[in-house]
Amino acid sequence: MIAEIVAVGSELVSGQALDTNSQWLSRALGSLGISVHYHTSIGDDLAENIAAIRIACDRADLVITSGGLGPTQDDLTREALAAVAGVSLVEHADSLAAIAAMFARRNRSMADRNRVQALLPTGSAALPNSCGTAPGIWMNVGRSRVACLPGVPNEMKVMFDEQVVPRLRDLGAGGRVIVHRKINLFGRGEADVEAQALDLTARGRRPEVGITVSEATIAFRIIGEGATEAEALAQIEPTAEAIYERFGPLIVGEGTDDVVHSLLRELAKAGTTIAVAESCTGGLIAHWITEIPGSSETFPGGVVSYSNQAKIDILGVPAELIAAHGAVSPEVAEAMAQGVRERFHAGIGISVTGIAGPGGGSQAKPVGLVYLGIATAESVDSRKLELGPEQPRGVIQRRAAKYAMNWARLRLQGVV
Ligand code: AMP
Ligand code: MG
Repeated sequence: MIAEIVAVGSELVSGQALDTNSQWLSRALGSLGISVHYHTSIGDDLAENIAAIRIACDRADLVITSGGLGPTQDDLTREALAAVAGVSLVEHADSLAAIAAMFARRNRSMADRNRVQALLPTGSAALPNSCGTAPGIWMNVGRSRVACLPGVPNEMKVMFDEQVVPRLRDLGAGGRVIVHRKINLFGRGEADVEAQALDLTARGRRPEVGITVSEATIAFRIIGEGATEAEALAQIEPTAEAIYERFGPLIVGEGTDDVVHSLLRELAKAGTTIAVAESCTGGLIAHWITEIPGSSETFPGGVVSYSNQAKIDILGVPAELIAAHGAVSPEVAEAMAQGVRERFHAGIGISVTGIAGPGGGSQAKPVGLVYLGIATAESVDSRKLELGPEQPRGVIQRRAAKYAMNWARLRLQGVV
């Protein structure tokens, strides 16, 4: 069964709002074993809606639209669907009663405009809306089944789960289950990783494996298929094992896990704590760590020591060190890491000092030059990163923060 999603709304095509419904629906359909082959987005224009729905009904067995079911003049999905099916709109008594009842429950009077929400193409069925006013629509158009859902994400999801899924199951869909597993790694370039995984990412391989990159974290996405979820997961397992075998220490976790999650797990495993001294990352590492519930177990705190004076006063970096080597230097990174470790009585201290740009770079110290420091009870060490100079400030900051956490996590694993 081939599916197409038609997202309706001028706010979507104009870039004012992100079409998250298509993403959610595609995943939900995928897990039912229905693959989505097309995403179409259109504005609130009747002729364009008619054209898009017609094309979708010609090439897909299942068409799901979202949006355009409201009571206002720019809500055109009902009319467009009726035009494609070549039928008229009729008032649906049960839907009108449900809309009136909803207004009564909320103690509000129903505007005349809301009556249009009970208009449905002749021959269609209403999909009751348990959390809003507009009913959805379920209809056969030519070879296709069409489901029209509201645009409001929450209403759309509830209607899909309550009304569309049972109908799809009745049609015999959902016989196959598709599952995804995402394994994330950090610390090597995408091309490098892919070169070591060409056999896994080859087209036509089962299970299918794709590589994506987000903020320098590389993800292997494995897509498994089977008669049951267990079978689909079992199909994925040997491929996942191969990835773990090949990329072991680079792997930071699965799903939404990233470097920070891995770092906190390693700290907990080692029963130790980390303190951070941040200059050019401005507290980003501390923010990411504290975003994770329970991080107080392993994170006593950090310092944003942006000025030289703050590095001297708060972290105890010797003024002579800064005068001799500059704030962006391995010597100062090491002194910051040591200083923060001692002041927070932490097991590990890490530091970041660098030039995030766009200004402030020089021939000797260009934008993107960053030094990381790491201090433990036994040793202190520093590392140079060259992340610029063409990268924007935010990218340099996020990369520097991730590399610093990654270094600490690898140190805890005994890899570096
Ligand atoms: P509508 O049903 O077209 O009146 O849409 C109602 C609201 O739902 C819009 O104002 C958007 O904020 C939101 N919305 C509509 N379509 C989408 C979509 N595809 N993804 C995310 N939000 C949407
Ligand atoms: Mg709309």
